[in-house]
Amino acid sequence: ARRSWRERLSGSGFAKSLSSLFVRHPKLDDDLLDELETALITADVGVEASTSLVEGLRQRMHKREFADSAALLASLRAELIALLKPVERPLDVGTHAPFVVLTVGINGVGKTTTIGKLARRYTDEGRSVVLAAGDTFRAAAVEQLKTWGDRNKVAVISQGQDADSASVIFDALQTARARGVQVMIADTAGRLHTQGGLMDELGKIARVMKKLDPAAPHEVLMVIDGTTGQNAINQVRQFLQIVGVTGLVVTKLDGTAKGGVVFALAREFGLPIRYVGLGETATDLRTFDAEAFVDGLLP
Ligand code: GDP
Repeated sequence: ARRSWRERLSGSGFAKSLSSLFVRHPKLDDDLLDELETALITADVGVEASTSLVEGLRQRMHKREFADSAALLASLRAELIALLKPVERPLDVGTHAPFVVLTVGINGVGKTTTIGKLARRYTDEGRSVVLAAGDTFRAAAVEQLKTWGDRNKVAVISQGQDADSASVIFDALQTARARGVQVMIADTAGRLHTQGGLMDELGKIARVMKKLDPAAPHEVLMVIDGTTGQNAINQVRQFLQIVGVTGLVVTKLDGTAKGGVVFALAREFGLPIRYVGLGETATDLRTFDAEAFVDGLLP
């Protein structure tokens, strides 16, 4: 499993820029650290985090704590892992039945794909799953969800066009409870006409869920696109004003030059990063693993 992270991430722009840097600068000097700082900032690790990380390394280098660049690299690895460890908190869907996951996030980030991948993962683990087609704003979203459902033999609860999202999700939760299903994953609209509209809708969804289970939703999972860098940070900030996000999924980390955003997210919000998307197929959603992620990026 470790090797597969490396395979997926080593081709990413971020990993490439880090490894070429250590090839071009075999010697330990300030140039190496300057370029490292630039590489981290360019990858959207965030200016503050990048600067403080590199300054720490610089002081230790000047104190001659590193014998060679391999020693510096080992220290960089440890510090990057330390930044991510606090957000490595996997989602346990076994604590309630049905465990209700409400997925949120703007269109195009990979929300529907992620729901499909989750359905596959939980079924592979031997759990029963129901999907709720709550993105009633976009007809294509319902169809896409049904395709994932068919492929993985998972029931998708939907209603006709222009159905009310809260009503679809209420229905689905009722069905899930009646059938003794273990996990329900609800899709929601990625954009309504206004932020107020989205807030009202998500609020209503949470309210109707609570009629059936006062503890639901058990997870509000926000999906963000890792290729959008700093913009992903702004999206999380906006959604936190709308709904109580409890976990993140960062998608499309395969191949992006902006993978540093994972560090920025960890630092900025401290929200658990539940999963990361490392590709388009059903098995490309991984439980977030700080060490595997960092090792995939470093040379
Ligand atoms: P939604 O609008 O948020 O529901 O987005 P979709 O689920 O339709 O995904 C948008 C595009 O992103 C699709 O082409 C997906 O195949 C692609 N995608 C989703 N997750 C990943 C990922 O982890 N890696 C890559 N490379 N592509 C992804």
